[in-house]
Amino acid sequence: MTPDAPAKAERWTAQWKELYEEVINTGLCTGCAGCVVTCPHDVIGYEHEEGKYKPFHLEEELGLDNCIHGEKGCTTCTRACPRFRTWESAANKHLFGRDREDDEMAGIWEQLLLTRATDKTQHEKGQDGGFVTAMLSWLLDNNYIEGALVSGVEDDDKWKAKPVLVQTKEEVLATAGSRYTYCANPLALPEAKEKGLTKLALVGMGCQVSSPPVMWDRKAGKVSKPFQFNIGLLCSKTFDDAIFSELFEPKYGLKKEDMVKMNIKGAFQIWMKDGSFHEIDLKECHQWTREGCKNCPDFAAEHADISTGGIGKDNDWTLTIVRTKLGVEVIERMIKEGVIESRPAQDDEVAMKLLRTLSIVSRRRWPDWAETTVKVGTPALKKKAPAPEPAADAAPAGDAPTPEAPPSA
Ligand SMILES: Cc1cc2nc3c(=O)[nH]c(=O)nc-3n(C[C@H](O)[C@H](O)[C@H](O)COP(=O)(O)OP(=O)(O)OC[C@H]3O[C@@H](n4cnc5c(N)ncnc54)[C@H](O)[C@@H]3O)c2cc1C
Ligand code: SF4
Ligand code: SF4
Repeated sequence: MTPDAPAKAERWTAQWKELYEEVINTGLCTGCAGCVVTCPHDVIGYEHEEGKYKPFHLEEELGLDNCIHGEKGCTTCTRACPRFRTWESAANKHLFGRDREDDEMAGIWEQLLLTRATDKTQHEKGQDGGFVTAMLSWLLDNNYIEGALVSGVEDDDKWKAKPVLVQTKEEVLATAGSRYTYCANPLALPEAKEKGLTKLALVGMGCQVSSPPVMWDRKAGKVSKPFQFNIGLLCSKTFDDAIFSELFEPKYGLKKEDMVKMNIKGAFQIWMKDGSFHEIDLKECHQWTREGCKNCPDFAAEHADISTGGIGKDNDWTLTIVRTKLGVEVIERMIKEGVIESRPAQDDEVAMKLLRTLSIVSRRRWPDWAETTVKVGTPALKKKAPAPEPAADAAPAGDAPTPEAPPSA
């Protein structure tokens, strides 16, 4: 009997037309800009502005939903899109050689640590433990990278994030800390290419750091080569820039220019230059959730080499999820050289519980009609039992917390 011939890999033909129909027009697009920076014909535009953050086609010959280069065989944009079809599984198989198990809600990892920079300035300027800043500096020093795509801020507005390329330790330090509005860091890639850089780190939320592994798996070609190290930021959502002018200032009198730090820990926390501290209920901020985040299933930046977050009981440590072999190599060298301090994250039960809970909450947002594997293993939302008829003398009961509900957004 003749053995079966191995199945031929299907030819990848999907282009902008399919990307538009299946991702952009359906609300799955996060605005990560992966398709924009990889398009070899430069026909995908993007506005890094309040209420926008979405790609659009610049040529109108075939209408905005089709592409003449796509019709002639170009498929780069769909190969780069980390929300197109089986993106999660493609990136998992490429990075880890397997799909995630059903209970791996926060993705696949090798080590879970709490870390912080030993350098005082890096630690102080960092959002949590200053680990990302310390790592970028170390990667530059040790020739893993020649530059990094990160979030800087506009010269005249220190809360308006903008994608920038950094190449020195001073530039890395100047971009430390978190802005909670969107910043499509891959948009700094053209500047790196112009400078001829070939070894880059990408810092970004899950929506952004899934793009390089998806490109590698789908063989997007040389455009994917400069991405050498992916640093993820845990993320439940970003806010539209309008939250400053429509909520913080009119309702609370908090002027953007007087804010010195912000954080999200159960509430939107804001520190002002007069020393005052304010907490705003996240429920109130909800209506300013950026459109591109509403269907996002990835809290834990599951396709980074190392993902980082600030959940847990300590404010000045970074929760550090080491995922890939390259991530392990780098973290072990950094610890050995004393660049960071570390301890097992499992010591912090609050952080461990929140990591799982918030990952579940995000996965539940992924629509049921979209690629089904993304939701595999996600526990269904427990319905509250109908309240029993109260006894005549019963005291009114408070809301019982839903077991899987997060304390914060
Ligand atoms: C929008 C956003 C939402 C987040 N949500 C959560 C969350 O829900 N739970 C949680 O545990 N952690 C969250 N984080 C991660 C957390 O705020 C820290 O970034 C992380 O813990 C690393 O801290 P660090 O001190 O090591 O980083 P740092 O040393 O301060 O470095 C931070 C890096 O993040 C980059 N950056 C800052 N703002 C942005 C932005 N808007 N977009 C892209 N890159 C940016 C900077 O350029 C810098 O390279 C979020 C971060 C961001 C940016
Ligand atoms: S998710 Fe990213 S790559 Fe995909 S269409 Fe949107 S901006 Fe482009
Ligand atoms: S929730 Fe965070 S990771 Fe998801 S799309 Fe929004 S910014 Fe990206």
